[in-house]
Amino acid sequence: VKSDKILDGKKVAEKVEDNLESEIKSLKEKGIEPGLTVVLVGNDPASQVYVSYKEKACKRVGINSNIVDLPQDVSQEDLLAEIEDLNKDEQVDGILVQLPLPEHIDEEKVIESIVPEKDVDGFHPANVGRLVTQGDMDLAPCTPKGIIEVLNEYNIDIEGKEAVIVGRSNIVGKPIANMLLHNNATVTICHSRTKDLKAHTSQADILIAAVGREEFITADMVKEGAIVIDVGINRTDDGLVGDVEFEAVKEKVAAITPVPGGIGPMTIATLLENTITACEQRRG
Ligand code: NDP
Repeated sequence: VKSDKILDGKKVAEKVEDNLESEIKSLKEKGIEPGLTVVLVGNDPASQVYVSYKEKACKRVGINSNIVDLPQDVSQEDLLAEIEDLNKDEQVDGILVQLPLPEHIDEEKVIESIVPEKDVDGFHPANVGRLVTQGDMDLAPCTPKGIIEVLNEYNIDIEGKEAVIVGRSNIVGKPIANMLLHNNATVTICHSRTKDLKAHTSQADILIAAVGREEFITADMVKEGAIVIDVGINRTDDGLVGDVEFEAVKEKVAAITPVPGGIGPMTIATLLENTITACEQRRG
C-alpha cells in the first residue's frame, strides 16, 4: 500500500484475508479444517453485530465457524463447562468468548479457563505475558495487532517515535502500549486521571485514541504531522463516529485512520490470522 493520508484499514484487511486464503487452502490439502468457535452470552445488540461480522469473515476465507449461543442467565458453571468441552474438541482451533459478559459472571475466570493455545483473542494471562516479556505477537489481542499491521503496511516507522495512547484497557490501551514499546517507541499511556491530557497528546508522533467518547480528540490536541490511529467506535444518530474529530484533525496530520473503515476491519482480519496461527501451532 502506498503512503496515503487516509490509512485504509479496509484495504489492508482485504490483503490480510487474501494471504490467509492461500494458507487455509494448503491446510485443507493436508486434511486440516481450521475452526473458530465464538461463545455469545445473552443478546446484547452490539455483541450480536460483532459476532455476525466474525462469522461472515470466517466464511469468506474458509474457516469453519460455530456460534455457541447461551442465555443471559447462564450459570458460570455451565459456561465454564462449555469452554472445557471446546478446549478438548480437536476440531476447534480458536475459542472466543464475546465480551462483555453479564454481571454475575467472573470475566477473568472465564478468560483463564480457555486453554492458551486456543485463545485467539489473546486475553489469557499466558498470552498477555508472552506479549509483555517477549513481544510475542502470535496470539496477541486483535485490535492492537491490527494497528501494528496497518502501521507496517504503510511503512510508518515506530522506532524512536513518541507514541501516546489515550486509554488503558486490557483490550486496546495496554497491549498497544506494549507492542509499540517492543517496536522501540517511547510510550506514554494516558487515562481518565491524567492531568493535562493535551500536554501529552500534543507531543505525540503517533497518537492512539482508544477512549470510547465521540470526537474526544480535537485538532488543538494533536501535533502537526502526527500519525493518528482512531480506535473508537461510537454509535450516534449520524452513524459510527470515532474518538477523533476526523475532519479537523485530518487537515493537520500526516496520516489518520477513518471510522468506519480503519481499525475495525483490521480487528476482524487479525482474529482470522490468530485462528490460523493457533491451528498451525496445534496441528499444522
Ligand atoms: P474502555 O472503556 O475499556 O477504556 C476506555 C479508556 O479511556 C479507559 O482507560 C479510560 O480511563 C479512558 N478515558 C475515559 N475517559 C477519559 C478522559 N476523559 N480522558 C482520558 N482518558 C479517558 O474502552 P476500550 O479500550 O474497550 O475501547 C475504546 C474504544 O475503542 C471504544 O469506543 C470501543 O468501542 C472501541 N473499540 C474498537 C475496536 C475495534 O475493533 N475498532 C475494538 C475494541 C474497542 P480509565 O482507565 O481511567 O477509566
